Amino acid sequence: MSNLALESIDLTKVYRRGSVRALSNVSLEVKRGGVFTLLGRNGAGKTTFLRIASTQLLPTRGQVFVFGYDVVEEADFVREDVAVLPQEAMPIPPYTPWDHVYHTLVIRGVPRAEAKRRALEALEELELLEYKDRPADRLSGGLRQRTLVAMALATKASLLFLDEPTLGLDPVSRRRVWEVVRERCRSGSTIVLTTHYLDEAEVLSDEVAILDGGKVLTKGSVEELKAKVKESVKVEVVNGFSEEELTSFGRIIKVADRLKVLTDEGAAEELLKLAVRRKAKVRTSPISLEDLFVDLCGPEDDER
Ligand code: ATP
Repeated sequence: MSNLALESIDLTKVYRRGSVRALSNVSLEVKRGGVFTLLGRNGAGKTTFLRIASTQLLPTRGQVFVFGYDVVEEADFVREDVAVLPQEAMPIPPYTPWDHVYHTLVIRGVPRAEAKRRALEALEELELLEYKDRPADRLSGGLRQRTLVAMALATKASLLFLDEPTLGLDPVSRRRVWEVVRERCRSGSTIVLTTHYLDEAEVLSDEVAILDGGKVLTKGSVEELKAKVKESVKVEVVNGFSEEELTSFGRIIKVADRLKVLTDEGAAEELLKLAVRRKAKVRTSPISLEDLFVDLCGPEDDER
């Protein structure tokens, strides 16, 4: 038995209307039993990849295998093993979180008594029990999103595709979702995730692939990717220094209200000493996945 949950080989997607090449020769391998995260700026091709791999969309060229089954030729076998949290899905009123989770399981063939038990379990895991009988149109945005996450995670499918599962969730709920995702991995599921939260990707992922313009820019474990940034430390500078002055300390990346200086320990120490003298607001930290992402793709919050 292959140790891969998913393998894509030269996957290419050109959308019919227009000349958008959403994926270009994407070859990825997802090992069983971990979290694999697709990162990339808006329009990078993440959702397209997930939709093809979960049999919702046909590729233009190339192949995807899920547990060895071809997602085009053997789509029915694939569907038995996967569950999907689609992007921008919405629970349907007047149905409640309970209705959504319970009927998802029944439709997938889970016997009713077992479906009841697992629906309750998933609702409890996502802290939805007190809202379980509230119609979807009376739930807050975060509770709706948690309902969708509960629907996918309750299936305990062997491969779970989660497209931005924590979008719009408060920090506590996000961490709850992380815990449930980890629990599913411990129980043997494989998770393929997309997210724009790089801290989330760093905490959760066993492996990451960064897409840009439909191509794989880089892939590997979080540690391997962070090691691709040649500097060892970063200093975030809020005030007290001009950009020009900072260039003598290292490589500058502009992010929102601050400048990041990627540098080595020696230069960081010099910069800190100077900052103390000037009473400037600066902070040092190790290189993060976000630093690599910004380095490769540009700042995540910039419109393109
Ligand atoms: P986001 O982070 O914004 O969700 P993404 O990485 O998931 O983006 P996709 O949704 O896969 O990106 O889109 C990849 C490209 O394909 C984009 O240029 C998008 O405009 C285009 N695209 C997506 N769906 C269609 C469609 N149905 N028809 C034509 N073009 C599409």
